[in-house]
Amino acid sequence: MPKYTFRCKECAAEYTISISWEDKDKAQCPKCGSMDKVKIFKSVGIISGSSGCPTYKETGTCPTGSFS
Ligand SMILES: [Zn+2]
Repeated sequence: MPKYTFRCKECAAEYTISISWEDKDKAQCPKCGSMDKVKIFKSVGIISGSSGCPTYKETGTCPTGSFS
């Protein structure tokens, strides 16, 4: 299952979920449950090549500010 990262428009939380592209509109914010969100396109090549992001390979996301 591919992973997509979204930013919630309601509470501004960023979250990454494994969901099919067809079902992405059904994805809900884990914090507030809102489905109003924007897709965040991350540059995988840059992120995966960063040595400062130890969580990326496992979770597909990086804590904000964890690398510079
Ligand atoms: Zn939210």
